[in-house]
Amino acid sequence: MLAEIAAAWAGRDRPRRRLAADPEARFARGPLAEHVRIRDRNCVGPGCTRPARRSDLDHTREHSRGGRTLAANIGPGCKRHHPDKDRGWTLDQPEPGLFVWVSPLGRTYRTRGEPVRPELPDPDPAPEVSEESAAQLDRRLRRWERSILEPPVTETSRPPPPPAPEQLRDEEPPPF
Ligand SMILES: [Zn+2]
Repeated sequence: MLAEIAAAWAGRDRPRRRLAADPEARFARGPLAEHVRIRDRNCVGPGCTRPARRSDLDHTREHSRGGRTLAANIGPGCKRHHPDKDRGWTLDQPEPGLFVWVSPLGRTYRTRGEPVRPELPDPDPAPEVSEESAAQLDRRLRRWERSILEPPVTETSRPPPPPAPEQLRDEEPPPF
């Protein structure tokens, strides 16, 4: 079992290496292409809902300008948005999967694919430490549920206990 854990640990970087298998390639293919399509889900154009599977895998920084074929430089671009970079828009990917567009008029748009698994909500805050004294707590509880604090009702109609043996001896002796 230890050998299995060691093997899994040794291979922990393998998926990442597969994504960065060929950073000089002209096109994103194989595991890198799959990873980007799943990560971004849609075209990264502002407000665009065209599925990544029906978009080109675009280099954020152009391949011809030294942009590498890595997850941090690839994003899906549909037929409408892919050419926007030639129409005065600039596109940046400051972190893998976050796309920052600047329009020809200087407006900035940030896009990011919807996460496959939503983030877990923050845990509830710890209850505040109460300054309530025992007497105050007692009063407060009585206001809401009087019965839970009352002692249980005891049975009152119990038959009297049988007479003790000494009492029997004190009675009149039998006539013999
Ligand atoms: Zn698009």
